[in-house]
Amino acid sequence: MPLRFFNTLTRAVEGFTPREPGLVRLYTCGPTVYNFAHIGNFRAYIFEDLLQRHLEYRGLRVLRVMNLTDVDDKTIRGSRAAGLPLAEFTKPFKDAFFEDLDALRIKRADHFPAATEPQHISRMVEMISALVDKGHAYRAEDGSVYFRVRSFPRYGCLAHYNLDELRDGVRVSNDEYDKENAGDFALWKAWSGQDGDVAWDSPWGRGRPGWHIECSAMATGILGDEIDIHCGGEDNIFPHHEAEIAQSECVTGRTFVRLWMHCRHLQVEGSKMAKSAGNFFTLRDLLEKGWTGREVRYALISVKYREPLNFTFDGLSAARSALQRLDEWSVRLAETAAGAQPDSVSNELAAFGEALDDDLNISAALAALFETVRATNRKMDEGALSAPQAAGLLAELSKIQTVLAFGPDGAAVPSTVNALLERRAAARAAKDWKLSDVLRDEILAAGWTVKDTKDGQKLAPGPHAVATT
Ligand code: AMP
Ligand code: ZN
Repeated sequence: MPLRFFNTLTRAVEGFTPREPGLVRLYTCGPTVYNFAHIGNFRAYIFEDLLQRHLEYRGLRVLRVMNLTDVDDKTIRGSRAAGLPLAEFTKPFKDAFFEDLDALRIKRADHFPAATEPQHISRMVEMISALVDKGHAYRAEDGSVYFRVRSFPRYGCLAHYNLDELRDGVRVSNDEYDKENAGDFALWKAWSGQDGDVAWDSPWGRGRPGWHIECSAMATGILGDEIDIHCGGEDNIFPHHEAEIAQSECVTGRTFVRLWMHCRHLQVEGSKMAKSAGNFFTLRDLLEKGWTGREVRYALISVKYREPLNFTFDGLSAARSALQRLDEWSVRLAETAAGAQPDSVSNELAAFGEALDDDLNISAALAALFETVRATNRKMDEGALSAPQAAGLLAELSKIQTVLAFGPDGAAVPSTVNALLERRAAARAAKDWKLSDVLRDEILAAGWTVKDTKDGQKLAPGPHAVATT
């Protein structure tokens, strides 16, 4: 069965193929760096990580952008409260975000553009100018620029709202009194005293971009006018992503995004996460309590992204046991395989990938995996699993670990092995296959297996720990 995903735009599960064969252009809304990201944010980023890894598992290349919102009301407020320049205030939160991504084994995007980078600010100004020229935007008296939602009849298409409902439903805030229509949103915000020294020059006077145009500019600037998939949490649907569609399509005249995917919000111990409720957790809070990144990853990934997920400490304990079970299984398989080669291509775990093809049905995928664990453990109890069969299962496990990234927290790679790896990469670049093989054997003798994948050399502890495909 082909890949198929639920599209928020059409509210239907649709078959998916990227526009350019073999290459998926993926944009994912990233963190606002005024604080440490919380585990709700990480549900969104882990769902996107699963999506990327599964697309890659199916042989597609993913070109991914995740933006960092480093200028908006919250970052400006935070920097003023801390008495720091904006860039100095956001820097530690950017750094912390990358540490958290690593702890949760979330693959790095190809690009992490930050809104304040000059080339992106320039593109925002260019896009706003184009919108003003085409009559889709207007400058208000104070120098702010608003998008005219009436000029884009499809406005509301993503959230499935109609414009008249919207006009009645949206409150006008005090500082936006000169909008033509209550639903119009800011593309450019004129400088106000609260902004301190955070301002850029523009044809409309000094000011700063609105949040929505930041994403449109960074998305189209890096990935082009037509993107395959755009993701975020469900709160991003309206107005953020709705606004992105309107702005981008009015500038480019093209379909901005074909597939919109959104994850449901994370609840904690049955209710919305809030500092006042005492159930607000960053990843750091959980690590301090003795949980590991991979346990948190398991807990956040193991419920399908469109289902509600209630994060509990019982859930974390269950994640710990499930991972232990997998670790034990793989050790047992390695003992049973005893260095044997798989004699045929093992296909015991095909159901795992097929479940993920079906709108990332991770619950079914994990059920298939643990059913295999149960059945083959029994066979091993009975001595009925052959060494080549065990080796085949191990190879399959390491392949699905490229999607799950649930493997044990490995031992640090010794510097001698790293040096051998570097020499081997150079040998391969020079097409010296003989030397490459000699170095592979030296790495093996040092207790590590190296395999060559389309993403380069992959290292794992012990023999036969990495899939050959
Ligand atoms: P923010 O930093 O608020 O812009 O949010 C960054 C990302 O996290 C966005 O994609 C949000 O939709 C997502 N997000 C925020 N809160 C939650 C939550 N409780 N559960 C899942 N995703 C969330
Ligand atoms: Zn965004």
